[in-house]
Amino acid sequence: EDTVARIAAGEVVERPASAVKELVENSLDADASSVDVTVEEGGTELIRVADDGHGMTEAALRTAVREHTTSKIDGLEDLESGVATLGFRGEALHTIGSVSRMTVRSRPRGGDGAGTELVYEGGDVTSVEPTGCPAGTTVEIEDLFYNTPARRKFLKTTATEFAHVNRVVTRYALANPDVAVTLTHDGREVFSTTGQGDLQAAVLAVYGREVASSMIPVDADGDDLPPGPLESVSGLVSHPETNRSSRDYLATYVNGRAVTADAVREGIMGAYGTQLGGDRYPFVTLFLAVPGDAVDVNVHPRKREVRFDDDDAVRRQVDAAVESALLEHGL
Ligand code: ADP
Ligand code: MG
Repeated sequence: EDTVARIAAGEVVERPASAVKELVENSLDADASSVDVTVEEGGTELIRVADDGHGMTEAALRTAVREHTTSKIDGLEDLESGVATLGFRGEALHTIGSVSRMTVRSRPRGGDGAGTELVYEGGDVTSVEPTGCPAGTTVEIEDLFYNTPARRKFLKTTATEFAHVNRVVTRYALANPDVAVTLTHDGREVFSTTGQGDLQAAVLAVYGREVASSMIPVDADGDDLPPGPLESVSGLVSHPETNRSSRDYLATYVNGRAVTADAVREGIMGAYGTQLGGDRYPFVTLFLAVPGDAVDVNVHPRKREVRFDDDDAVRRQVDAAVESALLEHGL
């Protein structure tokens, strides 16, 4: 499997949330300190991601929407090491723009002069004009899948599509407490983090006081952990009484990237044992550090599912880390 094949595998935009994920990753890669995500009708009518990151010149903007262009990739090594930057396929803007009406406004940070507005419709650049805009980048996606009716039809209800968007934005907000992340749906602010707090503050902003006050710190590394590939396990897990019937609240990260992994989920659930009751899940924000060669990051590019060379050991390590945190709280 070569780099190009992996790049191709990752290019699918399945639903509004996949576009939101790519745009938010780009904003974080651009060193933004604030990222505002606005969606209408679950993202099917409008997705707008505005950042105050390093921005793009007109030339960079023209390049950015072309196929297979990235300013980030450094070959296969980067892909396998869990990737220093989040975006790495050079496909997102081009792919999203091919199935929507996309407007990008950008102005380089610290540069003088106007910004640039580029309009991209169904895969063609239809206009490029100077425009007044703040430093940073705003990408607007209207009418996602307007030219691919089959995919448009496949979209679920507004509520379901928004739930996916919310989960994606929540994950990035929790992993980046130093970035002010705001999510607005149909004119209503869903949450807003300050960008000046720690993980606990981000949990408070995103999930509210009840959940935040039930959180228990997990912090295990070195000798705290049984043998296995994980170098550390840290974050927050909820008191077993604070739970939900959905896995959506299990936010897990490997080397800073939001991913899901069966071994990790099973380790978490194992630590709680029977305390949660049937089909209930805790609120979890858990960061795992692992050497890049012990994890296959590309099992499922869209869903961000990963697998470890030694899943059993990972399961035991996560179980032990969470269990000892719960034990310390008499649970
Ligand atoms: P990738 O992120 O994989 O490089 P994308 O298609 O997502 O590919 O983006 C293409 C390029 O456009 C990026 O490499 C980056 O240089 C530029 N870019 C995209 N979004 C932003 C942004 N929000 N701020 C600054 N530059 C951006
Ligand atoms: Mg990208």
